[in-house]
Amino acid sequence: MSNADTMRRRDFLKSAALWACSPALAAPARPNIIFIAADDLGYAELGVQGCRDVPTPNIDSIATNGVRFTDGYVSCPVCSPTRAGWLMGRYQQRFGHEFNPGPAQQADPNFGLPLSEVTLANQLKAAGYVTGIVGKWHLGYRPEFHPQKRGFDEFFGFLGGAHPYLPTAGADPILRGTEPVEEREYLTDAFAREALAFIERHRQRPFFLYLSFNAVHAPLQATEKYLARFPKIQDQRRRTFAAMLSAMDDAVGRVLERLRQHKLEDNTLIVFISDNGGPTNNTSSRNDPLRGYKGQVLEGGIRVPFLMQWKARLPKGLVYREPVIALDIFPTVVAAAGASLPANPLDGVNLLPYLTGQSKGAPHQALYWRFGPQAAIRKGPWKMVRLADGQPQLYNLAEDIGESRDLASAQSAKLKELLQDWEAWNRQLAPPRWQQPARRAQRARQRKV
Ligand code: CA
Repeated sequence: MSNADTMRRRDFLKSAALWACSPALAAPARPNIIFIAADDLGYAELGVQGCRDVPTPNIDSIATNGVRFTDGYVSCPVCSPTRAGWLMGRYQQRFGHEFNPGPAQQADPNFGLPLSEVTLANQLKAAGYVTGIVGKWHLGYRPEFHPQKRGFDEFFGFLGGAHPYLPTAGADPILRGTEPVEEREYLTDAFAREALAFIERHRQRPFFLYLSFNAVHAPLQATEKYLARFPKIQDQRRRTFAAMLSAMDDAVGRVLERLRQHKLEDNTLIVFISDNGGPTNNTSSRNDPLRGYKGQVLEGGIRVPFLMQWKARLPKGLVYREPVIALDIFPTVVAAAGASLPANPLDGVNLLPYLTGQSKGAPHQALYWRFGPQAAIRKGPWKMVRLADGQPQLYNLAEDIGESRDLASAQSAKLKELLQDWEAWNRQLAPPRWQQPARRAQRARQRKV
């Protein structure tokens, strides 16, 4: 053996011994994943998003310790379709999941994530992660659509689209697995408790927790503990909303604190997003400076608070301004976890290289929306939007974030280009597998006439 060989061998043995002994030099452990969804949280409802009357220091800390997306979108302006999109990484209209189902008693029997589709939980479970959901599901009422049939090992929450926060004997029970439980805590507190218990149970192995709050969706209900924080808010509805948001911020803070206690925070990828814009009049939530609200493909319905933290890998305090969409969560998480992608091509893009600076430019050439008769496309600063009963409008969001100056006539060539792009995308989509509840009721009435 030459001297050089001996040296190499000695170096190898030394580094192998260090590798084996020192946790600092061990192969990087796979990150835990916590995907936090807020419900109906408007663009302007966090401190880091400009909110002034409701402090949200814990949720804000995800942005200051990680990334805030200024132009973060969801793929639908209402709950269930957005959730279908982000758990699949694909535009949900590709598989007919275009509308909300309505309450369980009225829901179309087909309602649920098609069983042919692979969820993010399926992929992570296959990669050895323990997977759990705490909170709102809203992706199927029937037994075959239950979260534990869709890749989640554990479930604590409810199957529907909304739920009272105060203990009540409702038609949509709180379930642990498939068993109804009697929940006595304020629901947001209960979800925090269950999230902490999940982390405790599984802190020794990589875990995926989908923490899906129903806050701050209606009904407006809060406990005195949180209401007492806002004695100066005169409007009682706003005061209750503030209390609900404050409770969710506490819940997020408890999760972050527990990760820190177990020294898990650095290597946990945390995503925070809302499923659609604020319904404004309904709950007092705000989307400023955006126009429109929940249910519309104007910016106020689809552009949402979107934050991401992973201290071990992502920069701190980054404000990322290229358009991104909730569909990106799937491939981003899969890449972080070293899991494999499903056979279906995804619409989402792995954002990690864009956030670390490895990849330049925009992750998406364009983003698209279809919600019944409503249509929209965002391409660079340009946005075409067509509401239910109107002509296509054209806005330059770089100069006009509030969609107030329609350039459809002045920039007719640009409008034509965007309409053509949107039509090309639209031709790839499937017909809806069920109709909007209101539309179904209307059709039923017409049939009776
Ligand atoms: Ca929602």
